[in-house]
Amino acid sequence: MNKYWSPLVDELSPYTPGEQPKVDKLVKLNTNENPYGPSPKVLEAIKQATTDSLRLYPNPDSDQLKQTIANYYDIEPEQVFLGNGSDEVLAIAFQALLKHDDEERPVLFPDVTYSFYPVYCGLYEIVYDAIELDELFQIRLRDYLKPNSGIIFPNPNAPTGILLPVDAIAQLLEENTESVVIVDEAYIDFGGESAVSLINQYPNLLVVQTLSKSRSLAGLRVGLAMGNADLIEALNRVKNSFNSYPLDRLAQAGAIAAFEDTDYFDETCQAIIDDREDLVSALEQLQFKVLPSAANFIFVRHLRLDAEMLASQLRKRGIIVRYFNKARINQFLRITVGTLEQNQLLVDAIVDIL
Ligand code: PMP
Repeated sequence: MNKYWSPLVDELSPYTPGEQPKVDKLVKLNTNENPYGPSPKVLEAIKQATTDSLRLYPNPDSDQLKQTIANYYDIEPEQVFLGNGSDEVLAIAFQALLKHDDEERPVLFPDVTYSFYPVYCGLYEIVYDAIELDELFQIRLRDYLKPNSGIIFPNPNAPTGILLPVDAIAQLLEENTESVVIVDEAYIDFGGESAVSLINQYPNLLVVQTLSKSRSLAGLRVGLAMGNADLIEALNRVKNSFNSYPLDRLAQAGAIAAFEDTDYFDETCQAIIDDREDLVSALEQLQFKVLPSAANFIFVRHLRLDAEMLASQLRKRGIIVRYFNKARINQFLRITVGTLEQNQLLVDAIVDIL
């Protein structure tokens, strides 16, 4: 152990972020960014920056952005929380809502899921139980009806892309009333229905979203949570205990413009959904098994070929995808849906490898 750092640091198994190489020559389909870029109105808004917008502290509560989001979802600004990317929002939610160490009532999430969840549990010393997916890689919500200190899952799940219908979530909330249910909707806009419509009915529901995917702003780092005002107050207390200015002025201005340009948002999401379906058909013809995806990525396994070999052969051809070698998802590739042209390059490269 290093004598200067806390013993806790030795115990940590931090998250390994996806590779972020220079993109000039690469077709980057490994971290689920949006190939279309944000609405041009976002850049315009950011370019309005003045000396004062950099010199002065920003509004710590991002009031105007909260109001914009509240208008968009027909909720109240007090029901909105903002953070520096949804990873930060999730970290705060784990600390504010899930930090329990009751062995009899672990926090529940699926196995397989977003790999940051066990990392937060390690950081905050949260006892958890990772519940296996069913044989079709689906989350089976009846497995979550046991004593727990909170439930969290992405919808659609990552990295599978499989969606749970909003009525199934409502059903879970009917039965699980004693603890918080966090639905991480990072990929909800690519064909799913948000559970935000349920927050007024269920005070224990927190819906987390990001502007990194459907609004193509991964570089701006804006995430949000929506829920009952009491839950949001819990998040604010933790936030204000370590960083009361999570969103800078440029991020606030850009995020407002992104929410306001609904036409651009609808068009680009629809393009990704359409292109996803074409990509799925092309890969199925090349003997890939493809899980049904409601996200901007697909989770696929070739019936014969090794995933690591495929990923490295694709890389040699300038295309980066993620491959997985852990037990349940061994031999799977996760491929971000790119532009029509990028998807074609991917299919051509796979034909070449086969
Ligand atoms: N949740 C899920 C399920 C994700 O896949 C990601 C992206 N890695 C995030 C949250 C975090 O996204 P961001 O911090 O860019 O908002």
